[in-house]
Amino acid sequence: MFNHIQPSVPDPIMSLMEAYMQDSHPQKVNLGIGLYYDHQGNIPLMRAVHLAEQRLLEQQRPHSYPPIEGSALFAQQIQALLFGDAIQSHQHMVTVQTVGGSGALKLGADFLCHYLSRREIWVSDPTWANHWAIFEGAGLKVNTYPYFDDASGELRFEAMLNTLSSLPEGAVVLLHPCCHNPTGTDLSQPQWRAVLEVLQQRRLLPFFDIAYQGFGDGLAEDSFILREILKTDLDFLVSNSFSKNVALYGQRLGGLSVCCNSLETAANVKGALKTLIRRSYSCPPTHGSQIVETLLADEYLRQLWVSELTNMRQRIKQMRVSLSAGLEQGGSTLDYRRIRDQKGMFSYTGLNEHQLSQLRHQYSIYLVAPGRMCLPGLNQHNVDYVTAAILDVTLP
Ligand code: PMP
Repeated sequence: MFNHIQPSVPDPIMSLMEAYMQDSHPQKVNLGIGLYYDHQGNIPLMRAVHLAEQRLLEQQRPHSYPPIEGSALFAQQIQALLFGDAIQSHQHMVTVQTVGGSGALKLGADFLCHYLSRREIWVSDPTWANHWAIFEGAGLKVNTYPYFDDASGELRFEAMLNTLSSLPEGAVVLLHPCCHNPTGTDLSQPQWRAVLEVLQQRRLLPFFDIAYQGFGDGLAEDSFILREILKTDLDFLVSNSFSKNVALYGQRLGGLSVCCNSLETAANVKGALKTLIRRSYSCPPTHGSQIVETLLADEYLRQLWVSELTNMRQRIKQMRVSLSAGLEQGGSTLDYRRIRDQKGMFSYTGLNEHQLSQLRHQYSIYLVAPGRMCLPGLNQHNVDYVTAAILDVTLP
């Protein structure tokens, strides 16, 4: 019955991770998968999460089914995180809990196909590889708009605007509000305003994917475009993830928000999302959302979380500065300014395939092709080793 099924192509990032796990080199360095590691190379259990979990344990809540869309308080909290205080006067936003940010993208993709008859989406070139997989898997044709120029390390902003300006009315455009994956290259606030103008002129349908809120410049700063678009009359979607900024990777926690133009439409959109969820996985898991709900509802825990997230962001920035300074001092031909200035977890380093292979086979340093480095894999114990290795493979 199943013999016709061909071997699947393994996910390149997961395969790299497996190869890293099997590598016995004592100085191996994982700069591949998008995970935050602390200065000792461990995935942190955030203190705010730990305290919230303790409170939950003390409450001895039974493990009942949640509502299909997740709890109402959690939805409000997601909206406040994404949009700040402005959301309080905005009644037409629907938010549902999802299975991670990936689940939000898939739910959004299904919504676009089944309820809006969309057959295409435009994503940045390049974008996170799983965007392609999720949208194509949902039946959408994936097109690209220009975004990043490998040779110069700069945004292709004019070309991006030109392409967006040429799209048909109602075309769906996927945008990263902050910490662009994989390039680490974000739009400035004036550039976001220019994009917003085009979105309005062309009446496009933006789908914002924010998986790293808090890792760029701060929670509010990173959602600048979301707060700006809320002031317009545009409809839009937002997928968000708590995998990275609350370090709840395995809890699979995220949200999908849809901004509608009336209360009645919002109620119907919510019904549509609930239908899609119900016939897929029925309702979301509860442990992760209860953790986040607890920590966001309590002023002390919330402040603690924000300060822990600030430390994570600053640690990544320090690593960017150390590595780029080391490369500069060593006379590297690599454009070290990219590593210093890009935002979030990733840098598109400009290292070529041959150099990546040398790093992996001579030094057991793992990056994702083409040249994406996950900065939190660096710490004070390995940054000199990585600097020396990159200097070695990039010196003429
Ligand atoms: N969007 C982007 C751009 C991402 O990088 C990721 C995670 N790597 C996701 C969405 C999905 O996040 P999650 O792990 O919560 O599914």
